[in-house]
Amino acid sequence: MKAMVLEEIVDMRKNKQPLKLRELPVPEPKQKEILIKILACGVCHTELDEIEGRTPPAYFPMVLGHQVIGRVESIGKDVVRFKTGERVGVGWIYWACGRCSFCKEGNENLCPEFKATGRDANGGYAEYMVIHEDFACKIPDIFSDTEAAPLLCAGAIGYRSLRLTNLKNGQNLGLTGFGASGHLVLKMVRHKFPNTKVFVFARSEREREFAKELGAVWAGDTADKSPELLDAIIDTTPVWKPIVEALKNLKPAGRLVINAIRKEEIDKDYLLKINYPEHMWMEKEIKSVANVARKDIEEFLELASQIPIKPEIQEFPLEQANTALVELKERKIRGAKVLKIAS
Ligand SMILES: [Zn+2]
Ligand SMILES: [Zn+2]
Repeated sequence: MKAMVLEEIVDMRKNKQPLKLRELPVPEPKQKEILIKILACGVCHTELDEIEGRTPPAYFPMVLGHQVIGRVESIGKDVVRFKTGERVGVGWIYWACGRCSFCKEGNENLCPEFKATGRDANGGYAEYMVIHEDFACKIPDIFSDTEAAPLLCAGAIGYRSLRLTNLKNGQNLGLTGFGASGHLVLKMVRHKFPNTKVFVFARSEREREFAKELGAVWAGDTADKSPELLDAIIDTTPVWKPIVEALKNLKPAGRLVINAIRKEEIDKDYLLKINYPEHMWMEKEIKSVANVARKDIEEFLELASQIPIKPEIQEFPLEQANTALVELKERKIRGAKVLKIAS
């Protein structure tokens, strides 16, 4: 099969062809595994972190890609959840132990043995992949293959972030940062919590306008004071300033949820501006969100099909994965980038 593989850590400022087109054997499904013929795979920022070594692959060569849509091509021994020909999706979670306390509570994203698709096991930048049947999900018919792929990452994580805020209908929500995940959260909130007012903090005027078009009651700059205090805020920025600035806008007992895999070091000294009575006192909470559990993906897909949420997409053939990655790195973004691998 054809695959675009990463063979070593690459500095993408110097090398614009980090992945190599290779011929690999089609993997065989072992017990409880399914073999998936891949139809589409989303291109995510996390791939840049893998390529450049911020969250490096467990081994090389590695097939990246964790927003996979495909059809079950064949099944291994004892598979009960899927039949040949069914359409399935695979997100960031590739495997977890199923026995630890986190797994038993449905928080398998926190499992110490957690394995990520396309980082700890081969993922979707290829014609086929295998996965344990328990970690694949069904895909609602309403979505095309390329529409469904990007929902598996930004959308599902946005959904978990919203869940972790404990927000109730009618309470005020803030969003600091307004990219892929933020705008999906706003669409979810409009549907799920119709009486909730959403306040958006974004640096660019274009993002603030977009937020208001989608139903935000107010949009301002990252450091602004919101016109009302907020019950919860979700942060999707890569830096620290918005965290400190957001805390002053929280109500007593309000919660700030940070949805970022890593924070950058560049403005870390901004944290010294924390003024305890203004930013922390009155039982304010800060919580991070660590990717997704299977339940988040399944519940989000269901919600997205009801609303419905259909992402803007830009398709690339598998062989042009490097072009998609370079454009992502250079922030040339016109919708979510998706590799269309077969139909
Ligand atoms: Zn992702
Ligand atoms: Zn576990």
